[in-house]
Amino acid sequence: MSKLIGSKKATQFTESVIREMTRLNDLHGGVNLSQGFPDFAAPAAVKDAAIAAINADVNQYAVTWGAPPLRDAVAREFTRRYGLPIAADEQVTVCCGSTEAMISTMMAIIDPGDEVVVFEPFYENYGPDAILSGATPRYVTLHEPDPSTPLGADWTFDPDELAAAFNNRTKAIIINTPNNPTGKVFTRQELETIAALCRKWDAIAISDEIYEHILYDGHRHVPVATIEGMADRTVTINGLSKTYSVTGWRVGWSISPPSLTGAIRKVHDFLTVGAPAPLQEAGAVALGLPDQYYLDLAARYRRLRDILLEVLERHHFTCYKPYGAYYIMTDISVFGFSDDVEFARYLVKDVGVAAVPGSSFYTNSARGRTKLRFCYCKREETLVEADRRLEKLAPVGVNLR
Ligand code: GLN
Repeated sequence: MSKLIGSKKATQFTESVIREMTRLNDLHGGVNLSQGFPDFAAPAAVKDAAIAAINADVNQYAVTWGAPPLRDAVAREFTRRYGLPIAADEQVTVCCGSTEAMISTMMAIIDPGDEVVVFEPFYENYGPDAILSGATPRYVTLHEPDPSTPLGADWTFDPDELAAAFNNRTKAIIINTPNNPTGKVFTRQELETIAALCRKWDAIAISDEIYEHILYDGHRHVPVATIEGMADRTVTINGLSKTYSVTGWRVGWSISPPSLTGAIRKVHDFLTVGAPAPLQEAGAVALGLPDQYYLDLAARYRRLRDILLEVLERHHFTCYKPYGAYYIMTDISVFGFSDDVEFARYLVKDVGVAAVPGSSFYTNSARGRTKLRFCYCKREETLVEADRRLEKLAPVGVNLR
């Protein structure tokens, strides 16, 4: 057989459906509510800092594991917010986005045969991350709330199902709070349940906290590393993308216990050498923005969430209300399409709105076939335009005229 083919690893996963939907949207001139990136401006002070850094000729490699001002700011802010001391020199590694921080972490800690617990539905990168790092994923269901239940119902896991996923081979669990795609915010009690299992089985928590500042309705972010006994077994992943609306900059980081930092830094170094130097300087400025910036960010997203919830419900989607991050998972059964992919294609081609098929968040696509994810990190007028286009949509058996 010809060797001019991709590796076994590369054949085990497909291209990103999220990124594919953006491409499809661009082809059809739709309103892009698929891939989660803002269509509004990044903060002026942060942009100015990047320009100033380039003009000051901060244009060569930064220290491989991150420019000191950014690493110091990451450590300082984590300690200031959550009271956990972080040593920038021993614990922080700056990467090309949280995406690279995640894969570098997994490649640094996983051996073939190691198991990794993943909550499902999951952010689609975690599947390929497991394959590339050689991990065997063990999926644990986040059960959806009954959408008709009163306010405050969130997606939940069954502690017994979670406990059953852990064993001697469990090396790590991936947590994402606030959660993409469900909007779930893990409670302290839930994290304590997870932490007890990590301690029992000597497992590492890899906690993707990229939506840390995007929370609603009084929900609070609890970093996994701050749960008792977890500081020395948690790798926290975060980045500039979502908090400062700079998804194209590709600046993220990991905060790891010193025992794991050397391995993560080596993998990171040989994957990418380092993240963009001038953007790291701007990142240090971004992390120094006053607390009001974060309050305004959350308030803005709450308003956008409420607008899109109202729009989608009026157009007959069943919505699972998010309490964090900037996505709304919906149920699309009422539209009578054969599956989520067919519906998403119809929606982008004939209605002019792009969303992400639910199946891309599940290992067994059948479980996501009645679901579709919309993002609302968009200007109000973008959501109004989506509303206008969705007028075309009619659920089966409902005569709108
Ligand atoms: N996290 C964003 C999403 O879920 C963007 C993903 C990406 O394309 N990197 O849509």
